[in-house]
Amino acid sequence: MGNQPLFVLSDDTERSRGQDAQSSNIAAGKAVSESVRTTLGPRGMDKMLVSDSGDVVITNDGATILQEMDIEHPAAQMIVEVAETQEDEIGDGTTTASVLAGQLLAQAEDLLDEDVHPTVVVEGYNEAARLAREAIDAIAIDEETDDDLLEQVAETSMTGKGTGGVTPERLAETVVEAIRSVESGDGINRENVRVRTQVGASATATELVEGVIVDEEPVREDMPVSADDATIGVFDLEFDIREANVDAEYDITDIDQLNAAIDAEEGELKKYAETLSDAGVDVAIVTDSIDDRAASYLAEEGIVAFESVSDDDATAIARATGATRIGSLEDLDDEDFGHAGSVGVETYGDEDLLFVEGGDAAETVTVFVRGGTEHLIDELERAIDDALDVVTASIETGGVVPGAGATEIAIASHIRDRAASIEGRRQLAVEAFADAVDVLPRTLASNVGMDPIDALVELRSRHDSEGRAGIIAEGQTGIVGDPIDYGVLDPAAVKREAVESATEAATMIARIDDVISAS
Ligand code: ADP
Ligand code: MG
Repeated sequence: MGNQPLFVLSDDTERSRGQDAQSSNIAAGKAVSESVRTTLGPRGMDKMLVSDSGDVVITNDGATILQEMDIEHPAAQMIVEVAETQEDEIGDGTTTASVLAGQLLAQAEDLLDEDVHPTVVVEGYNEAARLAREAIDAIAIDEETDDDLLEQVAETSMTGKGTGGVTPERLAETVVEAIRSVESGDGINRENVRVRTQVGASATATELVEGVIVDEEPVREDMPVSADDATIGVFDLEFDIREANVDAEYDITDIDQLNAAIDAEEGELKKYAETLSDAGVDVAIVTDSIDDRAASYLAEEGIVAFESVSDDDATAIARATGATRIGSLEDLDDEDFGHAGSVGVETYGDEDLLFVEGGDAAETVTVFVRGGTEHLIDELERAIDDALDVVTASIETGGVVPGAGATEIAIASHIRDRAASIEGRRQLAVEAFADAVDVLPRTLASNVGMDPIDALVELRSRHDSEGRAGIIAEGQTGIVGDPIDYGVLDPAAVKREAVESATEAATMIARIDDVISAS
């Protein structure tokens, strides 16, 4: 064999190993999490993200920032996934989760530098995560989750987001009312809460509409723009001469035959309006097209019709009104029609919106978000989406914890208490986890302009004496206080999920000692 080296990888494969691989992965993960740190909390700053094509997004939302950043490094990408998981599972706490993941990596790096073996780090982190869950359960408020509490949770999730002058209390009330109205014996139908945005008015005009709003205008201007106690048909068919007839060859030799042919067509087009009118339909939602003449007959019958309605919107209207989608006009059944208290078309600037409200429609509600600019409205929509999610999470997983860093202080304290009894080097990893969790209250403190070290010292002592202590934004800076007194509450699920996904990502990255990439 001689000294011939054995090549198992192709020439252009890049490879880094051992400490090199680890430290570059850790650095990438830390960098990503560092980039969202300044947005955490009520005084968090916003980021302006500009894409290749010049689109601008201004946001405070961790998941949105990471998603727009176009991150390529595989380890950094895992932190982005932490934020995405958090967003999918709970809908809030994305900054918390990614900052924690980054800090767990930073602590892991120190441990690895001190020659603590990666598997020991992993075991220690998993043990600490278990202790963190215990601490979350212990600090959870075991009061009935009434509307008051839920409004506080909603408000907490919206603080720090640009809400364009609307008081967060009002938005929080709207959000809780929305969730309550889609709550039934078997839980919350979160998908029955829709959010619809429309620029043009001030954000204070944001309101809850009991029904659905879709971006549609009637096919003809002479159709009625509103109807009360309306019967609604949702049709998946074309209101036109049927193909078969169009293709048929007419052998027309005189004017009578021509007239007969035209009459036959007209009759067919008129039939749509007659059939719908006989069935008592006031509003026709059509996913396909409507022939102009068929539309004019519909207008004559006083029926308002919408064509080329998207499948999503048609589904929402059907669900909201109790209608079944209709594929043929033969054998129409009353049961197939939906009902709404009112249907109306309203004009906003150069856009027409169709409102389907009341009656059966009340099963679906829409938060109708208004605002002066596109950017404001987008951020407001994200804030409302988060608030809807945290209220849902609080009801469904039945737990609320004090916010403002108080839960994190409790987690770190509980972990340190137990770390003493853990043998060997694993203890170092468990303690390092507690240090990593501290970054959250520390960041909240520095984002409100407090000295993070002093704040941490005071938080710990107040936690020990009173059982709860958080960073409360006040005036130009912040103070240490009991978050419950200030109504700063988060769903317990946000903290559980953040611990879970951050631990998972950090331990996964810490275990990697070889990066092999094809170029
Ligand atoms: P995330 O993406 O993690 O939800 P946020 O920027 O929304 O990040 O910040 C969430 C943190 O801010 C939570 O710990 C929450 O308890 C805290 N927080 C929210 N409102 C307040 C407030 N008024 N005072 C202090 N802390 C608050
Ligand atoms: Mg939040």
